[in-house]
Order: sequence, then C-alpha cells, then structure tokens
Amino acid sequence: MKQAALYIVATPIGNLADIGQRAIEVLANVDLIAAEDTRHSRYLLQHYNIRTPAQSYHEHNEEQQTPKLIDKLLAGMSIALVSDAGTPLLSDPGYRLVRAAHEAGIAVIPVPGPCAAIAALSASGLPTDRYCFYGFPPAKTVARQHFFESLSKIDSTLVFYESSHRIVDSLYDMVAAFGEAREAVLARELTKTFETIRKAPLAELHTLVVESEQQRKGEFVLILAGSGSVKDENSTTVDVDQLLRILLQELPLSKASQVAAKITGMKKNQLYKIALEIQSI
Ligand code: SAM
Repeated sequence: MKQAALYIVATPIGNLADIGQRAIEVLANVDLIAAEDTRHSRYLLQHYNIRTPAQSYHEHNEEQQTPKLIDKLLAGMSIALVSDAGTPLLSDPGYRLVRAAHEAGIAVIPVPGPCAAIAALSASGLPTDRYCFYGFPPAKTVARQHFFESLSKIDSTLVFYESSHRIVDSLYDMVAAFGEAREAVLARELTKTFETIRKAPLAELHTLVVESEQQRKGEFVLILAGSGSVKDENSTTVDVDQLLRILLQELPLSKASQVAAKITGMKKNQLYKIALEIQSI
C-alpha cells in the first residue's frame, strides 16, 4: 500500500458478497490487518484469496496493542482494521486506536460498507431524517429498565442492537417503558438465509419472539419510532367535516359543535367555525 495509513474497513454482516471492490483491494494491499478475531476474519480473507498477515485487536488487548500498532504506522506501515462483522467501532473495538492515530498525526481512512444498524434503518419504514443509535441496552434488568425509561420521550427514531440471549427480556422492558403501541421494527439475521424484518407495535413483536423459537434466534436490530410519532390515545381519526355535516342535519349549529367537541376532543369554538363554513356552502 502506498500510503501509510489506518484503514477502517467494513466487512459483511452475513452475506459474504456484501463487500466492496475497494475494501478487497485495501485488505489485499495493506501490510497488516488488525482483526477483532483472526480466525473469524480468516474465512472472509480466504474467500477473497487475501493473504495479508493478520493479528488480533479486540477489547481485551486493545490497551496493550494500540501503542504497538501506532509505532508500526509511524514506521510507515499501512494497517486495516476489521471487526467480526460490519463497520468497526460501531459497537465494536477500534475507538482507542482511531483516537491514538489522530493524536499521532496518522491518516485515518474509512472504507465504508455494511452496518447492521444502517441496513435495518434503511428497510424499517420509520423516519430516518433523525435517529439515535444506542448500541446494546444494558444486560442487567434494572439498568436496562432505567435506560429505556430515560429514552421514552425522545422523538427521534431509536436504534438498538440485541442478542438472542436478551431479545425477549429487552422487548418486554421496551413495552413497559415505551408502551404497547409504540411502532417498532425487528430486523433479524440481516442479509442471511433467515432474514426477517417485521414492523409492528412493540407488544406484537414481544409476542412474536415469545411464541416463536425461530424468531428468537440469531442477531437483531430493534428500531423504535420516536415519541413524536406515537398517536395520542385521545386523538381522533374521525372525519370532522363529515361528522359536522351529519350533526347539522339533526341539530342547531351550537349544539352540533358541542356534540362534535365531545366526540373529537377538539375545541367547541373551532368546530363552530367549521360548522359555520359548512352551513354557508
Ligand atoms: N459493527 C457491527 C455493525 O456495523 O453492524 C455491529 C457489531 S455488534 C458486536 C454485533 C451486533 O450487531 C449483533 O448482536 C446484532 O445486534 C447486530 N448485527 C450484526 N449483524 C447483524 C445481522 N446480520 N442482522 C441483524 N443484526 C446484526
């Protein structure tokens, strides 16, 4: 590789074909690959006939490995960082290394590609103009409950990772914190054979994983609509114009507005104005 730099290379999240040409070239041409799990990455590297030496870089050795990798970069080596799946640093190791590289004046070059959160979000049918990524919820029940409660009023779309061990518990706690009706998406085994993308109110998703052993297996992204998009339980789906037209056939204007206010929860004087307009047509 001509440029001594730290390359942050995204790799597939299931389907081995989901890798870009540039990622393959970078992995083939760097001096060293720092991999979260070298045995895991070997499968991908062999598939693409990449023979670059690899060494492990994971959460248990990153403190000790970071300065060694920085020394290699400063000596002119090019290094690619990969994780087991998806984009490094996204709920994966690498933050310490990227930070140290910036401090040492080393170029950090992203080679973008798969990321489970973004893949799920793109297929979720929930608003993507503003979203918050929260990674894995806490593993312990009380901490998880507090965590979800603290997010219940956020009006951006919320994105979480979850494992098969805790998917049932997390959905249970989400129902308690966000309400049964909160619109949500369960994205399971993305890009793999048993990919499932299910959009439903939270309570239904909880029932789904409780009742189906198959739907509890694999890897999950959970996406929740923000609080802003939750329908107010008192809100109405009544067609106000039509309601007033019917009431006006039976009642005087003031009484019709009063009854419509009771049915819809809207202000009586607002309904009175609409009723006036209807009458004047
Ligand atoms: N860095 C990765 C990325 O860019 O998506 C995420 C790594 S994190 C340690 C692993 C978690 O990501 C899984 O527990 C799951 O929540 C989510 N995940 C990874 N692959 C997935 C897939 N194919 N389908 C659904 N979720 C996935």
